[in-house]
Amino acid sequence: MSRGMDRVSITPLSFERFAPILGVRGALRLRSYIEDALELLDDRIVWHVNSTSKGGGVAEMLQTLLGYELGAGLDARWLVIDGDPGFFKLTKRIHHRLHGKNGDGGPLSKRERRHYAAISQRNAERVTSVVRPGDVVILHDPQTAGLAPALREAGALVVWRCHIGSDKVNGALKGAWEFLRPHLEHTHACVFSRRGYVPTWLGIPAVFIIPPAIDAFSVKNEPMDRATARSILRHIGLLDGATKNGNHLDFTRLDGSSGRVDRKAEILQTGPVPSWDVPVVVQVSRWDPLKDMRGVMRGFADRIEHLGDAHLVLAGPDVRGVTDDPEGARVYESCVARWRRLPAAVRDRVHLVCLPMEDVEENAIMVNAIQRHAAIVAQKSLHEGFGLTVTEAMWKGRAIVASAVGGIRDQIMDRRHGLLLRDPRDTGAFGDALSLLLRNRALARRLGRNARRRAASKFLGPRQLMQFVDLLYNLEQKRRPKRVSG
Ligand code: UDP
Repeated sequence: MSRGMDRVSITPLSFERFAPILGVRGALRLRSYIEDALELLDDRIVWHVNSTSKGGGVAEMLQTLLGYELGAGLDARWLVIDGDPGFFKLTKRIHHRLHGKNGDGGPLSKRERRHYAAISQRNAERVTSVVRPGDVVILHDPQTAGLAPALREAGALVVWRCHIGSDKVNGALKGAWEFLRPHLEHTHACVFSRRGYVPTWLGIPAVFIIPPAIDAFSVKNEPMDRATARSILRHIGLLDGATKNGNHLDFTRLDGSSGRVDRKAEILQTGPVPSWDVPVVVQVSRWDPLKDMRGVMRGFADRIEHLGDAHLVLAGPDVRGVTDDPEGARVYESCVARWRRLPAAVRDRVHLVCLPMEDVEENAIMVNAIQRHAAIVAQKSLHEGFGLTVTEAMWKGRAIVASAVGGIRDQIMDRRHGLLLRDPRDTGAFGDALSLLLRNRALARRLGRNARRRAASKFLGPRQLMQFVDLLYNLEQKRRPKRVSG
């Protein structure tokens, strides 16, 4: 293995900041949930375990979920497991299959089981050396499921949270569940983002449906005025004009210290950089085939004559910066190849952006600026467990065009909070939806306002924390009788 197990450092965050959003009653309710959790856990630790501290939705969410857990007085800690390239290739395969896709088409047979078990065992040794009996361990996604048996054996309460899923059962999905099942049967509970993702086989003692949330106050989602968004975009190379004396490039980090946007983005662009008044269609995603960045490009290019002077920005993490996503570089290269084949006049209006990943918060403030500047935020995923980028855009009041797949269907109601594509592969319908919103700005504004209200009531951190406390209660009730009889 290339590196040791990392413990990620977390900054405590206070739920008090939610008071204006929750109102007096909502804030009191939240406080009483927090007090219940403190009493229940006493001095036990809540561990979260996943496979990367940066890049992708889970890492994004854990940063602030753990921050609020700590801020509420819980002892919450985050461990990142280790693996070799073969392990991550295999877990990416499982990831795709849980979406009902074949991924790289490789096997999930005895050899893969052995490899998965060997890496899991090494990671389990490290985790069990710090976890104490009674601690709660939340394992995230397929990379960590193999730790469940050893952790249970060590006396921990083991929860597996699956952030992906498909509600259409096919051979690929069944194969992934068969692979994971022997490990998951050792958990005390499993958490899914939507009911349709729960596998039908029995053996899971408790199932909870907890949709993910975003943090309204994180660097990625905090309020940002136009001048700041434009300054940041100018600095990273996405907007025309010079940044005046580095104005508006400062931001406040989660830990309260000050940060500054120093790095630039790596941008593939041929034409003139757009000025601030040019409408921009944006998709921010990992370079993953299921995000269909190429399809976004195609939909935009095919309808370009109906899109006025709009530009398209496809932004993702610098592919060298995300260790658990070996496919990223290949997908990015295939987007570049497609981009090179675009007619020159279209290519001039399409920007492929790799955002620096060295500093997660610098990356986040760039994403914030890009999403806020967008006339339209697209999420044309072919599959999506639950699109955090969609919630981020909703919270920012953007007009959204997204695929009616997976959790996105719970996030957006078509024509109320955005426009949904019934067929995610229909690039023509995608282009038409862009064209409609670019022409009908009143509609775009109305959808954006509705989206923001919905995000505020359904997809922010307090709701997630309260559901998590309910889960703890449920587990504890199951555990207590055993303790007495044992
Ligand atoms: N993201 C980011 N920087 C990037 C690209 C993506 O911070 O360069 C974030 C994005 O803002 C979102 C997360 O990564 O918070 C992606 O989560 P989502 O649920 O949309 O997709 P996932 O990557 O988990 O499949």
